[in-house]
Amino acid sequence: MEKDKLIFDKGRKGRIGVSLPECDIKEINISEHLPGHLIRKDIKDMPSLNELEVIRHYTKLSQRNFSIDTNFYPLGSCTMKYNPKVHEKIASFSGFTDIHPLQSEDTVQGALEIIWKLEEALCEITGMKKFTFQPSAGAHGELTAMFIVDKYFKNKNDYRKKVLVPDSSHGTNPASANMCGFIVEEVKTNFEGGIDLADLKEKINDTVACLMLTNPNTLGLFEKDILKVQDIVHKKGALLYYDGANLNALLGKAKPGDMGFDIVHLNLHKTFSTPHGGGGPGSGPVGVVEELIEFLPVPLIDKKNGKFVFNYKVNNSIGKVRAFYGNFGVLVKAYAYIYGLGAEGLKQIANISVLNANYILNKLEKVYNCKYNRNCMHELVLSALKQKNKGINALDIAKRLIDYGIHPPTMYFPLIVKEALMIEPTETESKETLDYFINVMIKIAKEAENNPELLHNAPHNTFVSRVDEVKAAREPNLRWYPGK
Ligand SMILES: *Cc1c(COP(=O)(O)O)cnc(C)c1O
Repeated sequence: MEKDKLIFDKGRKGRIGVSLPECDIKEINISEHLPGHLIRKDIKDMPSLNELEVIRHYTKLSQRNFSIDTNFYPLGSCTMKYNPKVHEKIASFSGFTDIHPLQSEDTVQGALEIIWKLEEALCEITGMKKFTFQPSAGAHGELTAMFIVDKYFKNKNDYRKKVLVPDSSHGTNPASANMCGFIVEEVKTNFEGGIDLADLKEKINDTVACLMLTNPNTLGLFEKDILKVQDIVHKKGALLYYDGANLNALLGKAKPGDMGFDIVHLNLHKTFSTPHGGGGPGSGPVGVVEELIEFLPVPLIDKKNGKFVFNYKVNNSIGKVRAFYGNFGVLVKAYAYIYGLGAEGLKQIANISVLNANYILNKLEKVYNCKYNRNCMHELVLSALKQKNKGINALDIAKRLIDYGIHPPTMYFPLIVKEALMIEPTETESKETLDYFINVMIKIAKEAENNPELLHNAPHNTFVSRVDEVKAAREPNLRWYPGK
């Protein structure tokens, strides 16, 4: 690809992008009206370009983006699925965008009804009794939930210090528990990729407040022993927390509430039609069983005599975790998505997301390594251990995928799988796209055999090739100074 010049190197002195008629108003002397330090001086080496050059420059830059709207994006645990554009349109109706959070209840009944009905749907989907929509993201929801767990025990004068997480857990789980002041302890994963019950029994006692779980777990596997797990946890008086960031596989099929979970968070930006990652605000609603409702953040939204009202009288509320009521636009999209699809549509999501992941697993499990020999749910974890013999690691494979127009999968996570490549195709991809991905992965495995150097230096077709990952993370330098 031809290396494009910086805009600073493109201009020609004196070139200009606008032509305005001569000013017929007497110019004022700004320095008479503003203090000197507020008046901008000439910018040294400011580029001079015409309008077409500027348009081409920035349009080209915008085309260097990688996005779900252009290419396949199988980023495990992050659900980069297609989000129907019509929901953006609905969320931008002026009736939604022109209201203010301080308006009185009477004037925003429609908005409150949407939140209330979305809550009703999420309760049905998860088996919980009540939700708060304040948290802005998944990790924020986890933290909110940990505050609730903490307050629940303190309220009983039962001071519990520990939170358990499996060694496959998403990094935000131990981080959230820790931020709330809990000591975090890990529970091992067994040979089948599930939680090790013997280890759980050893670690659980009456100082443990909560076990945080994801099901399907981050290996993309269903926790088969979940009913035994909930029994062990509840017998010690502890709570069971559900990280529902990625709910695709369970929609309309199984409810965390039926599995014995007491408190859940969902990522509306992942599962429910808001793009995830750098795309704007998110929403991590937290739902609880009856016993925990009194600890939820205020206000809750209730329905009284056919009217929707804010309820600030929540006995033991942990207080607010965010201004107002959450990211309303995201809630509108989730509402439109869920009610548009209906129960059957939601089931389809679960069916197809699981089918797509298993299709890929089936085609690639012989070519790459697969630690746990089981059917997966909505995502699969491969390992580049076979290719490691040739000096190729997961990173090389991920980078090579970019040359074929595919976004790298999540890498080196979960930590318990060496050289992990975590792939989530999602339900929105066609069989043709999955086949293309599978063929590319087979091709890359062959390249690893025959031409490892090609992979070490990948990507080759991008504007920026392999970056120094450590330097990029530790010493990011994204600024360009004129004249330097
Ligand atoms: C994405 C994710 C989170 C965190 O969600 P954010 O919105 O990124 O804070 C937590 N748990 C799991 C399993 C996730 O995939």
